[in-house]
Amino acid sequence: MVFFATQFLPKGTITYVKDALELEIAPEAFEHYSPEMQEVIEKYSYIDEKGVRIVSWDFAKYVNHCCNCNTMSTGYGFEIAIRDIQPGEQITDEYGIFNISREMELQCHHNNCRRRLSPGDFEKHYRHWDDQLRSALSLLLAVDQPLLPIIYPAGTGGLYGYYTSRAKYPTGRSITSNTSRSTPPTE
Ligand SMILES: [Zn+2]
Repeated sequence: MVFFATQFLPKGTITYVKDALELEIAPEAFEHYSPEMQEVIEKYSYIDEKGVRIVSWDFAKYVNHCCNCNTMSTGYGFEIAIRDIQPGEQITDEYGIFNISREMELQCHHNNCRRRLSPGDFEKHYRHWDDQLRSALSLLLAVDQPLLPIIYPAGTGGLYGYYTSRAKYPTGRSITSNTSRSTPPTE
């Protein structure tokens, strides 16, 4: 299964949010599944920074890896477009960020394809990935964010208030200092 953009998504757009319906499988729980189930879980999950396998209940589990990907995991429970994505373009991800436990063959049809995804990729490439993420995150407040209400439900104040009405943004507080935080500022 392949997942395509249906509209233009500018760089900086949040493309995936880990919401309350995601299935979370802790390492101890994973060990108790049968080998057949483990294979299915491995195929459709990603592993977060705590080693928990997350199986998305929605289409997110069908996003393919590409060595020239257009979205990336920020580590804050959401993914972001690292460049402009055109309508009809396949949404792709960098699996090397996902704490993978075993090697995978790759066929991205790009000249820069690494051919093989391995657990050591993160150490090798994270500086470049971080640069791409930082560049995309700097646009977080500059583009429309339809998924933002899922990250910051109404009532968390601060950043969410700014999004619903930019006039509500508290004066005397720079936008730059707020975007550098992983949680919304409290009022
Ligand atoms: Zn590749």
